[in-house]
Parts: sequence; C-alpha cells; structure tokens
Amino acid sequence: MFQKIGIEALKQVTKRYARKQNRWIKNRFLSRPGPSVPPVYGLEVSDVSKWEESVLEPALEIVQSFIQGHKPAATPIKMPYDENENKRSYHMCDCCDRIIIGDREWAAHIKSKSHLHQLKKKRRLESNAVNARESQSISPDCDRELKEKGCPGQNDAELICST
Ligand SMILES: [Zn+2]
Repeated sequence: MFQKIGIEALKQVTKRYARKQNRWIKNRFLSRPGPSVPPVYGLEVSDVSKWEESVLEPALEIVQSFIQGHKPAATPIKMPYDENENKRSYHMCDCCDRIIIGDREWAAHIKSKSHLHQLKKKRRLESNAVNARESQSISPDCDRELKEKGCPGQNDAELICST
C-alpha cells in the first residue's frame, strides 16, 4: 500500500522535474541561439516500447559522433523564430534602469528574475508612497517633509492611481 503511494509520488515528481528541465532548455538554449549555445537534439520518447530504436540508438549515435569529432546525422532542434524580430532594437527598462538590445533579449529580460525582483521592489516603494499620502491628514509633519524633500515614487503612484 505505502509502496504504491511512494511509486505514484515518485512518478509525479519525476514528471514535474522533466517539465521543468524542458522549460529550462527552451529558455536557456532554444530561445537564445548563439555561439555559446550548444546544439540541442530532440528524441521521440512518447512510446516506451520503442525505446531502443527511437531513444537509445539515436542518442548513442549523436554522442558517438560528438566524441569522434564529426557532425551527427540528426539535425538539432531550432525554435521557430520571428522573421520580423529586430536584433538591434533598443529597449529601455525604466524599472532596472538598463538598456536592452534586441527583441529576443528584451522578451527574456522582462521575464528574468532580476527584472521581476526590481519590479517588486518598485511596486513596494510605490505602495509605501501611497500609504504615506493617505496618512498625511493624520501626520502633518510627514506631509511637510514629503513636500519639502519631494518624494521619489510619488508621481509614479499618482500615475497608477489615475489609470
Ligand atoms: Zn527590467
């Protein structure tokens, strides 16, 4: 009984891990081709009964070619990419205060951890500014201070409120 639960749980986490790996390969290699990115080969793994001929043998062939220093017969996977994409376009990220060149790089940037971190930080600052404004009537000292110093982020908060 417990063994069965264990096996099911193991299958589930393995599937989740595989999905995560696939996503990583897609993001890290396939969506950013370049000289520093190795070729990625796809294997048909959906039918376990054909494991030998559709997974093991092609995989060995690729590895063997690589070791012997020649190109494998199989062709690497390429992500379908947009012909209209601009490799030299400028994108200014106000949030991170950075310039990103290229549409693909920009798409990767706005999904990146560092960008999301900055975004979160900025939102937190903005909500603090809103809170500070809301408490103005209660604490006139704080109000004066804000007016004198000029509160960074306050204008941004206003922009958000009006939209
Ligand atoms: Zn950014």
